[in-house]
Amino acid sequence: MAERACKFHRRSARAALALTLFAGVPNAVSALQIEFDYRYDTRGFFTDLATGEPLAERRALLDLAASFYGGFTDTLTAIAPGADDNWSVSFVHPSLGGPGVTLVNETIAADTLRIYVGGSPSAPGVLGFAGTGSNLQASGDAAFVDAVMTRGQAGVAQGTDYATWGGYIWFNASNDWYFGPDASGLTAGRPDFLTTATHEIGHILGFGEADAWYANVDPDSGLFVGANAVAAYSGGVPLDRYGSHWAEGTYSLRDGVLQETMMDPSTPAGERQLPTALDYAGFADIGWQVSAVPEPAGWALLLSGVGVVAVGRRRRRIGLAEAGSR
Ligand SMILES: [Zn+2]
Repeated sequence: MAERACKFHRRSARAALALTLFAGVPNAVSALQIEFDYRYDTRGFFTDLATGEPLAERRALLDLAASFYGGFTDTLTAIAPGADDNWSVSFVHPSLGGPGVTLVNETIAADTLRIYVGGSPSAPGVLGFAGTGSNLQASGDAAFVDAVMTRGQAGVAQGTDYATWGGYIWFNASNDWYFGPDASGLTAGRPDFLTTATHEIGHILGFGEADAWYANVDPDSGLFVGANAVAAYSGGVPLDRYGSHWAEGTYSLRDGVLQETMMDPSTPAGERQLPTALDYAGFADIGWQVSAVPEPAGWALLLSGVGVVAVGRRRRRIGLAEAGSR
C-alpha cells in the first residue's frame, strides 16, 4: 500500500497528577483497545536511556489519548498466526533510529490495535508523523488473511469500512512539548503533546486516510459528505487541500462548547484541541461504530482530587507534523 502524507502543523500561536490512576480506569465493554509498543523507542522519547526506566508521564498521556477512542465498539478479529500463516508490514523506524521496520507474524489481540511509538530530534517545528505502514501482506488460512486485512470488518474490501492492525507514530523531540494531562498548565508557544498524540492516532484510525474516507468526498464540490458529518455540520464539510483533514478553522462542539476541530490541519501552540462532535462523526462515516465517548473517567476523578496523590506538578504514512501544522 502506498503511504500518503498528511501534515500536522502547529500554528504559532503543572501538575503531574497520579498518572498511573489512568491505567486503573475500567474501559467500557467492547471498547477499542490501543496498546503502545516502545521497543523502537531507541532515542529516549518515552524512556530514560540512562536508567532504562519508562518516562511514565509521557506514556500515560498516550494512554489518555487512546481513551478518546474508547467509545469505538467495533469487534475486531484477533491477528493470531497459526503454523502455516504469515503476515508482515513495514514502516519507518518510529525513532528514526535505524533502518525501516518490518514486523513479521506479530500476534495482535481481538479489539486491539498496536501502535509503535518513538521520537527523536528533527527540524524545529515539525511535531510528528504517523501511519499504518506499507506492503501489508498475509498468507495462509483464509480466515487468518481476512483478520490481517480487514479485522473481520465486512465493508473494508468495498471501501465502506476501515480496519487496521495498528500503526506507528514518531514525535519530534525538538519541540518544547507540554506533557501535562491538565490543560490549565498549557502555556503560550508550547505544543500540547496530548493533542498531537490524539490527532495522530486519529489518522491511524483512518481519518483522512481510509478508502472509506475518500468514498465520502464529493468529487465535484470537494466537500466531505458522509451522513454523520453532514448531520453534525448541517451540510457538506470543507476539507484541506489534500482532502485529509477538515479545512483549517472548522469548528464544532466539544461537550457543548464551540472548539476548532481536532482533525483540522493545525492546532495553535498553547492550545488543546480534543475530538469534537464533527471529528467523531467523521470516524463514524468511515465505518467506526462510535458510541457516546465520555470524558475519560479517570480525568474527572483526577481533577476532583478523589484518590489522587497530587505531586504538585504534574497504506500509509500519516501526519507529518510541522510547526503550525500537523
Ligand atoms: Zn493530521
